[in-house]
Amino acid sequence: MQLVVGDITVTVLYKRVKNMRITIKSNQNMVILTMPNNYKIEKGITFINQKSDWIHKNLDKKLIYTLPTNFEMNQSIYIFGNKYPIIRKETDKLSIRFDKISVIINCPKSTLDTQIVTLINKFYKQLVTIEVNNRLAKWENKLNLYSNNWYVRTMTSKWGSCNIKTKRLCFNSLLAKFPIECLDYLIIHELAHLKYPYHDKDFYNFVAKFCPNYKLLRKTLKY
Ligand SMILES: [Zn+2]
Repeated sequence: MQLVVGDITVTVLYKRVKNMRITIKSNQNMVILTMPNNYKIEKGITFINQKSDWIHKNLDKKLIYTLPTNFEMNQSIYIFGNKYPIIRKETDKLSIRFDKISVIINCPKSTLDTQIVTLINKFYKQLVTIEVNNRLAKWENKLNLYSNNWYVRTMTSKWGSCNIKTKRLCFNSLLAKFPIECLDYLIIHELAHLKYPYHDKDFYNFVAKFCPNYKLLRKTLKY
């Protein structure tokens, strides 16, 4: 069942559950309300109204992870915080090139938008890989904390992770969209976990030593 509450469209599911629950589906801009079988719909509407701030905040957060999906005309792309136009050129082979002024996508006429999304994702992954390569050793020395290895992946719900046991770090390729300071913050954040596993006060005090404006960067990333 679909329900519109204010400007929020909600899909209502009745299930054998004890309490009401709201789920935001990543990348789909979808809000799901799960309700116990015996609840009246009015109760759900009140619940959605109460949680509307939280819902909006999380919808924004999910959107930030998505890429454009239509590349016909006048599209642009963010690379480390700057906006560049996408120029689509017809060729027989699919490739991508960045000349610091624009992003040129060479592609056959039959190329699907989904193929271009995949290509941009790969391109973002390359960019983040290059920058982590350039920056990680410097931060490891400054923090005096050292990882064993790292990789870059496209993720839809987090910016990075740190496996404390294996000392393996992971960074989201979509960090390529944001100012480079955001990537620095993520490197500092994940390295800091090697000393402080939890997001407690000590952890953030330590992070702040190396990244004093981390709160602002977290806002940029809606992190
Ligand atoms: Zn963390």
